Amino acid sequence: MASKRDYYEVLGVDKNAGEEEIKKAYRKMARQYHPDVNKDPDAENKFKEMKEAYDVLSDSNKKATYDQYGHVDPNQGFGGGGFGGDAGGFGDIFDMFFGGGGGRRDPNAPQRGNDLQYTMTIEFKEAVFGKETEITIPRTETCDTCTGSGAKPGTKPEACSVCKGSGQQEVVQNTPFGRMVNRRACTNCSGTGRIIKEKCTTCHGAGKVKRQRKINIKIPAGVDDGAQIRMTGEGEGGTRGGPSGDLYIVIRVKAHDFFERENDDIYCEVPLTFVQAALGDEIEIPTLTEKVKLKVPAGTQTGTYFRLKGKGVPRLRGYGQGDQHVKVTIVTPTSLTDEQKELLRQFGGSTGETNQEDHHESIFERMKKAFRGD
Ligand SMILES: [Zn+2]
Ligand SMILES: [Zn+2]
Repeated sequence: MASKRDYYEVLGVDKNAGEEEIKKAYRKMARQYHPDVNKDPDAENKFKEMKEAYDVLSDSNKKATYDQYGHVDPNQGFGGGGFGGDAGGFGDIFDMFFGGGGGRRDPNAPQRGNDLQYTMTIEFKEAVFGKETEITIPRTETCDTCTGSGAKPGTKPEACSVCKGSGQQEVVQNTPFGRMVNRRACTNCSGTGRIIKEKCTTCHGAGKVKRQRKINIKIPAGVDDGAQIRMTGEGEGGTRGGPSGDLYIVIRVKAHDFFERENDDIYCEVPLTFVQAALGDEIEIPTLTEKVKLKVPAGTQTGTYFRLKGKGVPRLRGYGQGDQHVKVTIVTPTSLTDEQKELLRQFGGSTGETNQEDHHESIFERMKKAFRGD
């Protein structure tokens, strides 16, 4: 097969050409090459080529496919004149006539079971370190006794004799306008297409049973509030041999009194006396796993953050851990002895106010200015 020319090239238009432009180019060429007017032996091939190009470029779906994939070899069974493409098109037309395909669905086709959702609340640290636990969920499962057929072991459901297994009946009515054919669910088999003569005694013919099922769940370290864990095949049982649905576990994480979490990082706030802040100190900080020592330098201001690298939450995807951020808050003493008060007065008098901050204009200076109205 000779390689195909680009459709845009065939019509002589730019790749960005709009709908109108493509139509115009096609009309112009059609007048020129139509076999009725052009007797050149090559004209017919030209005409076919441009007709094909126009069919694709004037259809937004086909055009999008063409723009993305170019010419598709029909022998590969995709698009073009390939069988697969035709079958798809046929299906669409069918759906249009019979309303979304529901009407012609095979009642005996296997059906996947429903998905289930379970919300689970866990402790803050359980989310950080992970947890293995067992939950009990009520779910519908395929009956073991009859393996889902609904028939007593040793027997089989039979095709309904009224609808021949299709599950549907055609009701013909003669009206003044002609014969009308209505389709409806078969009344003999309730649309299932099958008749169970001897029902399974476990499920009474349903093929399914309700069970309280215990499921072991592994919550990975590092999950966060709102995370979803999918457990494939742990949802409700399928019908007629269809696969089970999935179980989705939605994680809710309880708040912690001391730690706060943002993604993989942990935040906490620790108090510092103003003596510690002024003179510097080594303090103990609780982390998720242990106590660590933190050196607070002399002259630390309230609201300063210190970072404890790698003391955060393990990363779910990938290696390593987040950090812990420690915010220090300087607590002003509230109950002082007379002696302490006297010492503080002396301290205030001896230092003055300006040497609190050496490099910046002190907050006291700024306040003084504000009082002066500057
Ligand atoms: Zn059964
Ligand atoms: Zn029937």
